[in-house]
Amino acid sequence: METRMVYYEEPYRRELTATVTEIRSDGVVLDQTICYPEGGGQGGDRGTIGHAPLLDTTKAKDGTILHHIENAPFAVGDEVEIVLDWARRHHFMRLHTAQHMTSGILHQEFSIPTVSVHLGERIMMIECATDEITTDVAYRVEDLVNQRILEDHPVHSETHDRASAEALGLRRSIKVAGDNIRLVTVDGVDTIACGGLHVAHTAEIARLYYMGQERIRGHVRLIFTVADVATEEIRKRSEAVEALTALFSAPVEELVDVATHAVAAAQAERSELGRIKDQWAALRLETLAGKSHDAILWEVEESITLKEVSHAVSEREDLLLCAAKGEGENRFSWLIAAKGSGAERFDFSLQRTALLDGFAAKGGGRGGVYQGSATGDCSSFLARFRELVN
Ligand SMILES: [Zn+2]
Repeated sequence: METRMVYYEEPYRRELTATVTEIRSDGVVLDQTICYPEGGGQGGDRGTIGHAPLLDTTKAKDGTILHHIENAPFAVGDEVEIVLDWARRHHFMRLHTAQHMTSGILHQEFSIPTVSVHLGERIMMIECATDEITTDVAYRVEDLVNQRILEDHPVHSETHDRASAEALGLRRSIKVAGDNIRLVTVDGVDTIACGGLHVAHTAEIARLYYMGQERIRGHVRLIFTVADVATEEIRKRSEAVEALTALFSAPVEELVDVATHAVAAAQAERSELGRIKDQWAALRLETLAGKSHDAILWEVEESITLKEVSHAVSEREDLLLCAAKGEGENRFSWLIAAKGSGAERFDFSLQRTALLDGFAAKGGGRGGVYQGSATGDCSSFLARFRELVN
């Protein structure tokens, strides 16, 4: 027996008593249900069935509506009470109706077709068959939809046979099989074939909020939300701006300029600091080279990174050096330079195993400079290197 889809007859019904007709490994089947199964871009309903959590509702390949309940605490023939997670369902109904209206306005007023739609738990994305939608156009779409929402257009559905549905020349081709086509109309705004659930009047959507866009596969994806989620998103952005105006001591109108300058100044200072640290590393290397007429062993200071050591090393053509820097927790990183006459005294490819094995060290390099990480302590590594040098 096929499950009666009460969600189509009474989309606002939140509770229903049903009878369990089958308990399958992939879900519970009922004689009738108010739970919408995932499909057409709309998520499956949640809630409780017989007090057990309803995790999801889906449709099997054969069309059976499956209620996902772990260890169902009832048997075939039992009467159970379905209680919907209404906040979730109602959000989907509002989001879905707003999507029809937005795609309708995009099509009618701007000749922009909708390619695909994603209705999320909070936001929706409308992928449009165009490579550019200016902010101006996006705002006009948002304004037009909000105007229609306020005008409180009725939303209704009728079942048509395929021929009469196709004769209407809808903006989207009919994707479902069969001869009974469910057409959903937002009066004066849009009509398409759809199997989802919608609000009865557009005023229920309260507001459409344009959140931005992203590029995908040469298309533009517009991002929107509605109703109380829109209010939350607007407040979140407003709070972030407020915190930034305090942080930069700038009014909203100047915030982007002030922040842009601050970021640019920080970048300039960072590169200046990098230059000074490179100089500092080169000076340290010069001092160590002056003191030692042999291989240079360098336990690198906290204030210098091995990147700066490698910059200093790259300036020299004749060098034999082993540098190591503790990274905490018995770990260290190392750098070896064997260039010019140094390369005659230490051959990394030949000595690699003898040097690295005792320290579980990894790494490599070329052009006489080798780098990596290791376990153990720096000074034993430097001593080991010293032993291996000719
Ligand atoms: Zn729909």
